[in-house]
Amino acid sequence: MAWSGTVGSEHVAHVLGFPRIGAQRELKFAMESFWQGESDEAALRAAGKELRARHWQAQAAAGMDYVAVGDFAWYDHVLGTLALLGALPARFNLDASRLDLAGYYTMARGNKDHFAMEMTKWFDTNYHYLVPEWTPELSFDGGVDWLFDEIGEAQAQLSSTSSSAQAKVVLLGPLSLLFLGKIKSGLSHKLDLLPKVVAGYEKLLARLRDKGVTLVQIDEPILALELDGEWLDAFRPTYGALSDVAPSLLLTTYFDTVGEHADLLRSLPVAGVHLDGVRGVAQLQEFADKWPRDKVLSIGIVDGRNIWRCDLDAALATLKPLHDKLGKRLWVASSCSLLHVPVDLAGENKLDEEIRSWLAFATQKLDEIFVLKQALSGNADVVVGQFSAARAALAARRSSPRIHNALVQKRLKAIADTDADRASAFPARIATQQQRWNLPAFPTTTIGSFPQTPQIRQTRAAYKRGEMGHLDYLNKMRDEIRLVVGKQEELGLDVLVHGEPERNDMVEYFGEQLWGYAFTANGWVQSYGSRCVKPPFIYGDVYRPEAMTVGWSQFAQSLTQKPMKGMLTGPVTMLQWSFVRDDQPRATTALQIALALRDEVCDLEKAGIGMIQIDEPAFREGLPLKAGEWKDYLGWAVRVFRISAAGVRDETQIHTHMCYSEFNDILPWIAAMDADVITIETSRSDMELLDGFGRYRYPNDIGPGVYDIHSPRIPNVDDMVRLMEKARGVIPDQRLWVNPDCGLKTRNWPETYEALARMVQAARRLRETTATVKAA
Ligand code: GLN
Ligand code: ZN
Repeated sequence: MAWSGTVGSEHVAHVLGFPRIGAQRELKFAMESFWQGESDEAALRAAGKELRARHWQAQAAAGMDYVAVGDFAWYDHVLGTLALLGALPARFNLDASRLDLAGYYTMARGNKDHFAMEMTKWFDTNYHYLVPEWTPELSFDGGVDWLFDEIGEAQAQLSSTSSSAQAKVVLLGPLSLLFLGKIKSGLSHKLDLLPKVVAGYEKLLARLRDKGVTLVQIDEPILALELDGEWLDAFRPTYGALSDVAPSLLLTTYFDTVGEHADLLRSLPVAGVHLDGVRGVAQLQEFADKWPRDKVLSIGIVDGRNIWRCDLDAALATLKPLHDKLGKRLWVASSCSLLHVPVDLAGENKLDEEIRSWLAFATQKLDEIFVLKQALSGNADVVVGQFSAARAALAARRSSPRIHNALVQKRLKAIADTDADRASAFPARIATQQQRWNLPAFPTTTIGSFPQTPQIRQTRAAYKRGEMGHLDYLNKMRDEIRLVVGKQEELGLDVLVHGEPERNDMVEYFGEQLWGYAFTANGWVQSYGSRCVKPPFIYGDVYRPEAMTVGWSQFAQSLTQKPMKGMLTGPVTMLQWSFVRDDQPRATTALQIALALRDEVCDLEKAGIGMIQIDEPAFREGLPLKAGEWKDYLGWAVRVFRISAAGVRDETQIHTHMCYSEFNDILPWIAAMDADVITIETSRSDMELLDGFGRYRYPNDIGPGVYDIHSPRIPNVDDMVRLMEKARGVIPDQRLWVNPDCGLKTRNWPETYEALARMVQAARRLRETTATVKAA
């Protein structure tokens, strides 16, 4: 299939997708109000419609030649694709053609009768998608008409505003969809479903063509992974079949290079291919040199994964030689969907002018793409101003005294190998620790946060706005801590936490107390469903001027005889959930953070806190997409974690927490982190993770989560005992802890209390079948 659309006299500019959540998180609030029964489906639909219109308008107004339609989702675009095709997980018994949003959310969130769909990270981002559930009887023949309604809306909007932009439909491609799902039953290989999937896409694409759609962006991000031959072999026949019936297809790859698939990509019967020109800059020229004359090549040169202003000179220098080869067949784009960056810098009044001038959010990125398109299209004279502004901002950033800190540099140089090691090995440490606390077998604990009630949020907000004095704030937060500690004692938990009421977000809270970090007022990015995060960004050397958590932990410990866990966010997560510097290696930034945390860990110990949890929920998502690069990442990631933890004595117990279940493949590295206790997520995947423990013996203590905190469903005692019995099959009793999957901040008190009460009961029941005291 060749490119047959009108290319026009200029290069085409487009983005692979726009953030759907809204600059003010409108979609989040509309969803949540619907879930709470405060508004109906019509109101939620109206909110979504307005956002889509606004985002198309932004793209058209910025001079994009296409606006993206189909990047919107009511919770997640993978679930959206299943709804569109009609391939909903069978266990929900929903009719896809008559699906309403209530049914859709049942799959996404679960209810009292159903577990929610499993959720997992979207490649190496902090976005989470819902995992398709593959069973043999699934049909892909068609489901909801939502995409078609959206296309109608976009076409109407573009024609009523006489915009020259056209609608481009964005679809997750068939092979990536299939790959990202999990077999639930009855299939020996995911590709067994391929014929049905292809037939479903054929039907869908034909329908899109009939509807007047001329271009479909079909995302195949799995091409950036190291794929097995059977998956690669499936591309040609699949796209051969689709191209017969489809509108023009632009097949997109992103998040990494796809150079090893160059031959395949050249030969696919599609109208064009998109390459990530930020992460995969090295691959571009070779692609352009050999690119077929009848296809377009879209280059994602403006970074969809970071918030730094584009170095327009460098971008143009990269594009120029490609342009020489391809002419107007070169399209200019964002590297990936802009889903992963905040919406608009315009609302940022909190940032000082200097730092602000270094940044670009989704809306600004549209302008950058347009400026590059102009420069390539022979209109350089009209964008001189934009180029010189970008140049000046970049020069100012490079030379700003706020970037470098001599103290940090000195500290980095002084790090010794032994700084990464605890004094003794785990067996000796755990014996000392057990002597200190005499914990029962199957000790119970939680992951850190307790429900963040409206009252807590209001208090924090009032303090932040300056409406509440420091001492009033302190008292109110201490009241919350008192309440949480009291409830935990009442529940009979063994290791307590202070509940984190003072924290809005586990990264922001620390970043705000560290030099080198900056914050946006409104830089929200969707993490999953209605959950958004506001990643800080690291612009300079990281340094801790004073203790960050000691006061809170010390107060909490003073309220109880039980051990109180101090609670920190680990260096890898601090890095991973921030937008990071692009002027030094990630590993260096992580090491700076680790040194700051090490000081905090030591200060907590000095203040009498005997257990310290260093959360690393983002450890796994930092893994490079290509397994060949894992070793390098894991090497420095493990080391920085150890450096943050290893400053304490043997009797101080270091915990860590990771909320996902897929780390069988990196178990030795997790073990190398050498935390005394690790708590992990396992309940949603039914302890699937434990498979790996049969093969590789994880040596230290471990708490496999028994309560899925992402779901409003309260597990019963039997469920939790059953999960723990599964764990006991592969892990010795004396190494096991009992805890939820993750923090409880998104849950309410009644369900939290009930779930934890049952969890404590489950632990007691387990103790009936083993020695009552935890062995060292
Ligand atoms: N301690 C954090 C909490 O309980 C951990 C959160 C996380 O793992 N994402 O909220
Ligand atoms: Zn977690």
